[in-house]
Amino acid sequence: MSKLEIHQIPVLNDNYLYLIKDPDSDAVGIVDPAQADPVLEKLNELGWKLTHILNTHHHWDHTGANLELKEKTGCTIVGSASDAARIPGIDVEVREGEHYIFGTRQAKVIEVSGHTNGHIAYWFEESDALFCGDTLFALGCGRLFEGTPMKMWESLSKLSALPDQTEIYCAHEYTEANAQFALTIEPQNSKLKARYDHIQKLRAENKPTVPSTIGVEKATNPFLRPAIIDIQDNLNMQGADVVDVFAEIRARKDTFVN
Ligand code: ZN
Ligand code: FE
Repeated sequence: MSKLEIHQIPVLNDNYLYLIKDPDSDAVGIVDPAQADPVLEKLNELGWKLTHILNTHHHWDHTGANLELKEKTGCTIVGSASDAARIPGIDVEVREGEHYIFGTRQAKVIEVSGHTNGHIAYWFEESDALFCGDTLFALGCGRLFEGTPMKMWESLSKLSALPDQTEIYCAHEYTEANAQFALTIEPQNSKLKARYDHIQKLRAENKPTVPSTIGVEKATNPFLRPAIIDIQDNLNMQGADVVDVFAEIRARKDTFVN
């Protein structure tokens, strides 16, 4: 079974939209449309017709074009059942563990609250593709606007349990700043240092650093590594509960100035 076709569309300062197509049907989706025009232009260029919007969470930079795109294309809007009231134009409400049928493919819905309540991720297992909005970023994680550290840790733990080759299509290009922060938490991580070098090269050429993979994130992302001894040592939190270590890393990131 061939993989989904995925086009990354950069919009605003640092958002990524993902236009996806099932190669074996006419199903075409846009994940988290902040703006309509860039999506309509890309659809036009590819000769595709939009059938779905997949929203991860309610923030305007993920749902801002829902109503305009629905009006212009008649597409179906899919979002979280537990946050339906805040998803503009929602047609289909999906829940944790459900498999949403997208053409001939399916996306497993994973509830990943923490950044917002009712935030969800879409996992296309056969395509090794995860659309996770503002939950897991390359070398980072979303701010805890509505959830506790415990809730976000549970959410990130669900994502880090996915296969290592799973590609992480997150919604923002925050990677370079995240890497600078990550190096303050685990300066001795040689994979992280090598990754930072690579990220700097990509960004100097204005190239995306996304997608990443679960395997790479597990080896380098401090928010997935609160159980690592070096990190606990660096934070003076030897033997502490991983949720407390995670909370400390998140708190430090909130006040980190690049
Ligand atoms: Zn957000
Ligand atoms: Fe966002």
